[in-house]
Amino acid sequence: MIFLDSRFLDVRAYLIAYLITSFFGLCIGSFLNVCIYRIPKGESLVKRSSHCMTCGTKIRFYDLVPVFSWLFLKGKCRGCGEKISGRYPLVESLNCVLYLLVLTFVDVFTYPVHGLITAISFSLLIVIGFIDYDTMEIYGSHLVMLAVLAVLSAIFTDVLTIPERLIGAVCISVPFFIIGEVSTIYTKKKYGERIRGIELGDTLLMLCAGLLIGTKCIVASAFIGIFTAAVVGVIGKIRGKESKISFGPYLAIGIVFGTLWGNQIIDWYMSLFTYPQV
Ligand SMILES: [Zn+2]
Repeated sequence: MIFLDSRFLDVRAYLIAYLITSFFGLCIGSFLNVCIYRIPKGESLVKRSSHCMTCGTKIRFYDLVPVFSWLFLKGKCRGCGEKISGRYPLVESLNCVLYLLVLTFVDVFTYPVHGLITAISFSLLIVIGFIDYDTMEIYGSHLVMLAVLAVLSAIFTDVLTIPERLIGAVCISVPFFIIGEVSTIYTKKKYGERIRGIELGDTLLMLCAGLLIGTKCIVASAFIGIFTAAVVGVIGKIRGKESKISFGPYLAIGIVFGTLWGNQIIDWYMSLFTYPQV
């Protein structure tokens, strides 16, 4: 009676969960594209339907299927044949992959609210990361949304204690703030120009994220973010590109990894400095 085996039902439940999650991941990813392009321009997210950036042709509903339409049209507009940025399918599939990671690594069947909040925070981080990459700006409204998620998480889940959240909020953001202030004063003295080493937006991002994911995870996030930014910065230097890069996208990458595996990363790191018990 293999079909009534509970393990078989488990597999089927997971399969359905993965399919539904992929579907929502792609569709919401498609909406994130709209956010990333329209918010910096001050355009409405809902008023105007999707259109080609070059010829303005309204995009038909059958050409709006995430990822697949782009592949089918070979990355070109149906109206004018102009190239459509590969970033659209990238953002859609990225959001989809992150949702699937949440489904896999957050025990969503035991903690559904925690899983949902984590998924929403990942979508928000995609928007924050890409907008910061484009404009070098992190929007206050997006940080408020992250803080609201943290408050909802504190009210409706018990994955973290309140002290863990509060320490998480300050343990990275306060050093970041101090580095920012000191670098401003130092560059003013030395070069006569204020250059802030770490922007206020990045600092507040770590404050809100720390409130959401707690001490251990935000520390891991900061290390991953700084490491990634440093690697990209060095590669950029070697290639002779301009050295000023926005920090937000790398912090966002760090926070995603930190959220999913921060506890394990910190425990592993600490274990390197502990003698094995005999
Ligand atoms: Zn076009």
